[in-house]
Amino acid sequence: MSTIFHRIIAREIPADIVYEDEHLIAFRDIAPQAPVHVLFVPKVDVATLNDVPADRPEIVGRLATAAAAYARREGLADKGYRIVMNCNEDGGQTVFQIHLHLLAGAPLGRFGTPA
Ligand code: 5GP
Repeated sequence: MSTIFHRIIAREIPADIVYEDEHLIAFRDIAPQAPVHVLFVPKVDVATLNDVPADRPEIVGRLATAAAAYARREGLADKGYRIVMNCNEDGGQTVFQIHLHLLAGAPLGRFGTPA
């Protein structure tokens, strides 16, 4: 399946890319929900968190460690940040290539309140 994120990985559409390695890419969200809002996306095709193979936990782990490393580099780690992965309809997932949101740069309040 090809999503907008696959097209960003393939450089078919532009994005503000802040990090990339052989496993993943990170770029700024087009509609930021915090002063810092970066998406970490694996290069392997996985639609939702439900679809991560049980023997491939590193797919998710790399997203989290890359986000933490980015936060450290950007001086965000001590104040703190939030990472979020939305899954399917109730989770509010809109792009079906798994991704981890890094939100930072201001107090983020509580989470999980229904809209
Ligand atoms: P989800 O709702 O699936 O957890 O998150 C998808 C995120 O992708 C949203 O926060 C949305 O703003 C972002 N997004 C959607 N299309 C684009 C795009 O073309 N470029 C970038 N940089 N972000 C996008």
